[in-house]
Amino acid sequence: MSLRPTLLLLAVALALSSPSAIGAAAIQQPALTPQTASSGGPMPVEQTRVHFDHADLHFTLDIPHKRLAGDARLTFTATAATDAIVLDLDRNLPISQVTVDGQPVPTSRWSNPEGRLRVALAKRLDKGDRVTVGVRYAGAPHVAKNAPWDGGFVWAKTPSGQPWVATAVEGEGCDLFWPCIDQPTGKPDLVDTWVTVPKDLAAPGNGVLVGIEDHGATRTWHWRIKRPDTYAITINVGPFKELKGNYASRYGNTIPMEFWYLPEHEAQAKELFAGFTPMLDFFEQEIGPYPFGDEKMGVVETPHKGMEHQTINAYGNHYVKDGFGFDRLLQHEFAHEWFGNQVTNANWDDMWLHEGFGTYMQPLYSQYLYGDMDYFDWLHQLRLMVRDRKPIVSGQPRTEDDVYNPATGPGQDIYNKGALVLHTLRQLIGDPAFFTSIRELVYGRPDPKPGNFQPRYATTKDYIDIVDRVTGEDYGWFFKVYLYDAALPKLVEERHGDTLALRWVTEHGEPFPMPLDVQVGRTIHTLPMTDGHGAVQAAPGTLVIVDPRSKVLREMPHVEAFQQWLEQQKQARAKAGAKS
Ligand SMILES: [Zn+2]
Repeated sequence: MSLRPTLLLLAVALALSSPSAIGAAAIQQPALTPQTASSGGPMPVEQTRVHFDHADLHFTLDIPHKRLAGDARLTFTATAATDAIVLDLDRNLPISQVTVDGQPVPTSRWSNPEGRLRVALAKRLDKGDRVTVGVRYAGAPHVAKNAPWDGGFVWAKTPSGQPWVATAVEGEGCDLFWPCIDQPTGKPDLVDTWVTVPKDLAAPGNGVLVGIEDHGATRTWHWRIKRPDTYAITINVGPFKELKGNYASRYGNTIPMEFWYLPEHEAQAKELFAGFTPMLDFFEQEIGPYPFGDEKMGVVETPHKGMEHQTINAYGNHYVKDGFGFDRLLQHEFAHEWFGNQVTNANWDDMWLHEGFGTYMQPLYSQYLYGDMDYFDWLHQLRLMVRDRKPIVSGQPRTEDDVYNPATGPGQDIYNKGALVLHTLRQLIGDPAFFTSIRELVYGRPDPKPGNFQPRYATTKDYIDIVDRVTGEDYGWFFKVYLYDAALPKLVEERHGDTLALRWVTEHGEPFPMPLDVQVGRTIHTLPMTDGHGAVQAAPGTLVIVDPRSKVLREMPHVEAFQQWLEQQKQARAKAGAKS
């Protein structure tokens, strides 16, 4: 998901506000249960007893009435004996029929009171047994108030007045429109989507296009994808045109590229599409093979800003330019094909593995394209947004909202601070170890090639272990302070005559042996700071620059002063607005 617009980005956000999307005021809909509104959290034991083999999802859209009819056939293999299948589905999509292996289940044997659908099985499944559960449902799916941040369906119109429909459900989860296991680890091995829409509209989807069935007034678009992220399954409908191409990968394979765009935006769409190839070059060079090369690299234009829908990324950044020479939104969402879709956090608590790495890819791409000036410009913008109120990782299982809500979790720090932590790690361990550690995180091996890896799950601890193994050192102290403390490390500088004494102070007094460069005159000294202390000789009046190459993320009083000033400005504007 893209970074929520902040005050710093307000001007850009205002320019982007979409007149075609439905405003929040127009939405009157039943509330979601807490169960449906959240994604992740404690997993019911029945969900831990099955492996999700296949989801066959049939969707028919009634666009004028903003309604969805769904027919899902879900196949599971028991990994332990179970007498029930438990799924998540918004109860505001009433179920008309449940079947088990094609046989209707009496209503007395299934219920969906809080959005948690429980189907009692007539015959207990033993380990290794397979079952197919059918769920037929229809209703008005939840409408997004502010997609992608408050998710659901987006029913919009194109500039020429044609229907333009999208979904974005990361925060609330897949259960907003299909019966699923709404957990990061709830990925099915295979998903078929069948989307029936009026014949003059297209429905680009996840994975490969298997076929289009013609029914006269309507057509059904059939797509198939392997191991998609649960929240990456999406419905997109519009009068799209398509740009297509082939990418010749350095790994020898050919990757189909597709961009489904609104006909009104042809010229801009062609320009954006021309950027697909250099983006793929960058990621394949710096990180490794595009993970879904046997399916496609796909993008669809959406009425909302963006979302990392696997192989069909949502793009709604209005083709704006910002002087960095690429589309930051598209590059961010595309980064999630590696960080989010190929490697997926085992729990939402590890969400920085998606967003911290995903956000670091924009400065890294800037550096790849145009060098250090652009790279550090990015990092400084991120630095101004770091809040340090809650640790990036709690060490406890969390829901998506626990993490994103600044009252309970790190909020946007998983993006900005996460990316800066990676910058600092890269300076500390050097490029070879840094990029090897990323490759192992993403693919689970140092030598990925198409065909020798599968999408995988990882935790923060997995990444720490990888860094320790790759470097042969123990970097526990680094991750303890940057990820598990809220406060940034603080550098205390004291002058005693000709000596400049420096020491690290951490939130809970943990050791922090972070080496530090200090420039004295024209010479840079690297202080090992092994016990958190160091000193250089510098007579008063000598030129001294601490950390002259901006290697280390640390507390910066002037940044906090700036953030406080911004907050005061915001409050003053709100007060003036309330008076007028
Ligand atoms: Zn993101």
